Amino acid sequence: MIMKNHVVIIGNGIAGITTARHLRKNDSKAIITVISGETEHFFSRTSLMYIFMGHMRYKDTKPYEDWFWKKNRIELIFGIVNYVDFEQQTLHLESQTISYDKLVIATGSSPNKFGWKGENLPGVQGLYSKQDLDELESSTADSKVKNAVIVGGGLIGVEFAEMLHSRGIKVTFLVRENRFWGGVLPIEEGEMIARHMKYDHHIDVRLEEELEEIIEGEDGRACAVVTKKGKRIECQLVGLTVGVRPNIDFLKNTKLNIGKGIKVNEYLETNVPNVYAAGDCAEVQNPLAGRKPIEAVWYVGRMMGETLGQTLAGNKIAYEPGIWFNSAKFFDVEYQTYGNVLANKQENESTFYWKHPVKPISFRAVFEKETRALIGINSFGIRLRHKVCDKWIKNKTSIETALTELKDANFDPEFYKQYEQEIIALFNQENGTTIKPKKKNLWAIFGKN
Ligand SMILES: Cc1cc2nc3c(=O)[nH]c(=O)nc-3n(C[C@H](O)[C@H](O)[C@H](O)COP(=O)(O)OP(=O)(O)OC[C@H]3O[C@@H](n4cnc5c(N)ncnc54)[C@H](O)[C@@H]3O)c2cc1C
Repeated sequence: MIMKNHVVIIGNGIAGITTARHLRKNDSKAIITVISGETEHFFSRTSLMYIFMGHMRYKDTKPYEDWFWKKNRIELIFGIVNYVDFEQQTLHLESQTISYDKLVIATGSSPNKFGWKGENLPGVQGLYSKQDLDELESSTADSKVKNAVIVGGGLIGVEFAEMLHSRGIKVTFLVRENRFWGGVLPIEEGEMIARHMKYDHHIDVRLEEELEEIIEGEDGRACAVVTKKGKRIECQLVGLTVGVRPNIDFLKNTKLNIGKGIKVNEYLETNVPNVYAAGDCAEVQNPLAGRKPIEAVWYVGRMMGETLGQTLAGNKIAYEPGIWFNSAKFFDVEYQTYGNVLANKQENESTFYWKHPVKPISFRAVFEKETRALIGINSFGIRLRHKVCDKWIKNKTSIETALTELKDANFDPEFYKQYEQEIIALFNQENGTTIKPKKKNLWAIFGKN
């Protein structure tokens, strides 16, 4: 008897699409269907801002040509799944029902709202989907928006601010904490980026300021916000960027085990047979030390998709996230982080921090007090090589050795100013050491070690 293997994936983001691609790579026979209610084709969500700023067209953000799907026998359905019948193994869309043998839920995130008065008014929006981008285009057309308020000082908030600023809109940025991205960045980096936005890019950053309510104008649209400190700020657009949560509302009250996200084991299996979850909507039940159950970032979705694609093809493998890594850009400052750098230093940790005297360029290394083993790195304005940082942290390299090898990690283009000398000089001064930078080791960079 030939077993039919119809794998249906809800969500055509990085997690869903990577699963489909890796399944096809490893199994030429599987019948693969991907459903999404957002766009017909996969696009890079992280590039949304560049479409608005005119650096890219929507079609440039699609990593694969439109013919790719047919050629690889991945059927695409544009529609919203309203309901899943786990007993019957069927998905219910507006005008069709689809049966599955295996189901992958990769439905991503939804922007948070906290029940503020006025949060659903026209002119108030989040920044997550292609629809959000279209809405923003329409609200800002014909210079209708002169002033905007962004609520929520994190990664998406700063992108939103940059987008609006690029069109000459005056942006006020309300940040609840005493620094930018206070739940994630140590105080020095958070203050540095807040200053950079304020003084180099003229964003009106208001720290320790929270939204109280959004005021409706005579035309029924948002016309101002009032902060918890009682300040009224006139605006024609309010951006709500106060984090995201797994997009799983349509799965509540089913037999699926749901916490904040869809609970999965190390094989990304849910409690329901033949049902898996990956990407932003998945909640890993027993995360590794230092890792969070839900990690809503691009490369986690990609790694989960790579793993799940193999498992669905019959080569069952566990999801192993490796050393944490993330990167972003705050206006013109590139940020990279490796391993564990927490907003507040832990009892067993020491930290070394170097900052350029004027520019928003910095380097932080966190290491274990007793063993001196490197735990994490934050860099701003210095591009580091993933492979080298990953190896240092994985191998528990001492802070001193890592600093002597710092040149191996530097990935800045030729002729960029290098800061290893200054960084090491400060470390020596603070620690009474005499370490010296080693010459660049090309074997460490490009070789196997
Ligand atoms: C503006 C912005 C900038 C970002 N920048 C970065 C960055 O620089 N670095 C980084 O690591 N991460 C970044 N992220 C986060 C990153 O984009 C996400 O972690 C990633 O895209 C999540 O991928 P996913 O496949 O899990 O879900 P998604 O990309 O959200 O895809 C899920 C898809 O499923 C669809 N769907 C949901 N429910 C249904 C349903 N019931 N029926 C049909 N379809 C459904 C959704 O419409 C969506 O298209 C950014 C996010 C945003 C919004």
